[in-house]
Amino acid sequence: MMRAYVALGSNLGDSRQHLLDAIEALAALPQIAVIARSRIYRTPPWGVTDQPDFLNAVLALETTLPPHDLLDALLAIERAAGRQRSGERWGPRTLDLDLLHVAGQTINDERLTLPHPHIADRAFVLLPLHDVAPELDIPGQGKVVELLRNVDAQGCTAL
Ligand code: ATP
Ligand code: MG
Ligand code: MG
Repeated sequence: MMRAYVALGSNLGDSRQHLLDAIEALAALPQIAVIARSRIYRTPPWGVTDQPDFLNAVLALETTLPPHDLLDALLAIERAAGRQRSGERWGPRTLDLDLLHVAGQTINDERLTLPHPHIADRAFVLLPLHDVAPELDIPGQGKVVELLRNVDAQGCTAL
């Protein structure tokens, strides 16, 4: 069993329902147990700011799936939620499921980067990750509670 942390985001359609459906879909997989769920946050768009606000959350999982298989499961759930990749990076989406951290592993290949490279830059990730794992160390970035002190979380609100 490995501990994994997954970030959820949505800013198209019924975003709250997309997040809840994704949590249910993950929990329904026999190789995955959902251990903890953060609050849901409303957050301003990051990177591409001319788009609707997002809802974001983080899950802690226990899984027997190797990291690339876990990524495939996340991408399949995104597709089921109607996720379209238009070509624009960081554009609006019905559902984004990103793998943040898997058992402290470092991976850098064409499909998967672990830990997720942008955790330290993103209040919309750090706030919900802090709900479930404040003491978690992100290899190469730092401890969640310390990273959260160094981002601007104004404009992010728990629902
Ligand atoms: P960002 O990763 O900066 O949040 P994004 O989530 O909008 O951007 P996507 O379009 O969802 O990017 O993903 C593009 C590709 O990123 C995926 O097909 C996947 O292969 C790859 N990828 C690499 N590392 C990860 C990771 N840790 N979690 C999720 N996807 C990853
Ligand atoms: Mg993302
Ligand atoms: Mg993604």
